Amino acid sequence: MKRLRALLSKLMLIPSLSGYEGRVRRAIADELGTLGIASRSDRVGNLIATIDGDAEAPRVMLFAHMDQIGLVVRKIEANGLVRVERLGGVPEKALPSQSVLICIGKGRDVPGVIANKSHHATGQDEKYRVLPYPELYIDAGFGAAADALAAGIDVGTPIVYEPKVVALAGDRIGGTSVDDRAGCAVIIEVARALLQSSRRPTTHLVFSVQEEFNLRGATTAARVLAPDIAIQLDIVLATDTPDMATRGDIRLGGGPAMSLYSFHGRGTLNGTIPHPALVNLFSETAAGEGIGLQKSLQIGILTDSSYVQLVNGGVAAIDLGFPTRYTHSSLEICDLSDLVGLTRLLVKGIERIDRTFSLDRDDHMQ
Ligand SMILES: [Zn+2]
Repeated sequence: MKRLRALLSKLMLIPSLSGYEGRVRRAIADELGTLGIASRSDRVGNLIATIDGDAEAPRVMLFAHMDQIGLVVRKIEANGLVRVERLGGVPEKALPSQSVLICIGKGRDVPGVIANKSHHATGQDEKYRVLPYPELYIDAGFGAAADALAAGIDVGTPIVYEPKVVALAGDRIGGTSVDDRAGCAVIIEVARALLQSSRRPTTHLVFSVQEEFNLRGATTAARVLAPDIAIQLDIVLATDTPDMATRGDIRLGGGPAMSLYSFHGRGTLNGTIPHPALVNLFSETAAGEGIGLQKSLQIGILTDSSYVQLVNGGVAAIDLGFPTRYTHSSLEICDLSDLVGLTRLLVKGIERIDRTFSLDRDDHMQ
């Protein structure tokens, strides 16, 4: 757990907006390299590594996205203040008074602050209003547009919440980009364990790009890798706070979770109903290993697996994850014990995918 804490913290502190994943990709490639795992990146920027196994067993693609939500510069005002567009599902009510990093390239960042109107001048009618993002601006300290431009800020420059890790009580961690650096950290730990395993299917590890933008990278990787099984790792909505109580029974620290149904329902009409062979596999593995496996069912959620399951002749897909609170805000919270449980569940489950493992739906009672 100590190693996972260090790895997750390291990944959470790397700014990598959707479409600009180079920094986190290089860090993950380095981590894989220290395990002796060679990785490659494709033209859209996915990082892919393959752990060879029984060629007769179904092939697995285990994937998580390495990008994060954020903002991009839309316009620099004459007075040097910066206007932005959102990239991904950024909640506007979480933006004012946040510190941000404006990522000007080559690993260099310029700090900034998202303005919040002086309280002393805030009228009664403004107090409870959420400002739409076009009304917000970032103050990076510049007095004129020319100064901001000279510092490397221009239209299109990516911006992220200032990376942060907060060590909370017990095994809980708060901070930026828990979504989905925690998934990436779990894949690295799964890879470490699978390397030691003598019985394993060929397993492709994919750290995908542009999930938060519009679910782009993983589909491309799946087309090329042509897996039989796709296992997607990401946040699962924790519902153990008062504001979420009616949505389910997912407890932070209660163990990893499996999604039985997700549907976006806004914008895209897509989602994932998992393949029964994989539901059975992970349910039985969890029971056999004494791992508490929670069940999640959410409308409003969409993951890469919605598209990955449709490539080529179809891929048996499932969403697994870890409970997370306050998703897409600048400070999300997860529990390391859930990540440890998820790692064990994946290693033991993937080891059970051998040449007798059937993906025939008629072999799985529903
Ligand atoms: Zn995510």
